[in-house]
Amino acid sequence: MVRESSQTRNGSGLIALGACLCGAVRFEIDVPACWSWHDHSAASRKAHGAAYATYVGAWKSRFRMIEGDGFIGRYTEPETRAVRSFCTRCGTPVFYDRPRAPKMVNIPRALFDNRVGREPRYHIAVDQMREWAFLGEKLGPLKGFPGVVWERPRRQKQIGFASSSDGAL
Ligand SMILES: [Zn+2]
Repeated sequence: MVRESSQTRNGSGLIALGACLCGAVRFEIDVPACWSWHDHSAASRKAHGAAYATYVGAWKSRFRMIEGDGFIGRYTEPETRAVRSFCTRCGTPVFYDRPRAPKMVNIPRALFDNRVGREPRYHIAVDQMREWAFLGEKLGPLKGFPGVVWERPRRQKQIGFASSSDGAL
C-alpha cells in the first residue's frame, strides 16, 4: 500500500524517483514496482561493495530515464552476460540487467528515497551470505564513543573464527 505524501505523481499515477549519489543519473519508475528482494550473491556483493544488495525489479515499460545517459558505464559479467550499469562520475551501481529477464530492469532499492510499492520480502543466494553480514543482532552503546553501537560477541559467531589472541573476548 502506497500512502507516502511525498510520493511524486504524474498524469497516470504514482511514480518513484531514483538517482545515483552525485545526481548525474536520474530516472523514474511507475509505482508499484514489480517486486523487491535481497540479493546475497557474491557477484552483487562485489558489485556493490556491500554485504548484500537490495533490488527493486521494474518492468522496462514502466521505467524512464530522466537524465544521465552519458554518465552510464557498463560491465558485462563474462559467465552470466548480466550487465551492471554504474554512474561513471560517482561509481554508484544503478541498473542490473539479466538476460533471462529481458523485460525487467533491476535497480538498487537505496537509490529511491520514497516508497516503490513493494517491500523486499524475498532473498536469493542466501547460501552465499557472509558470516559478517549484519542480520539485526542486538546492539548496545560503545562506551566512550558517542554514536557508535556494537554487537557483543556471541559464542556461535566465535566458533571457527577465534584464535588464541582472541582469548580475552
Ligand atoms: Zn553519479
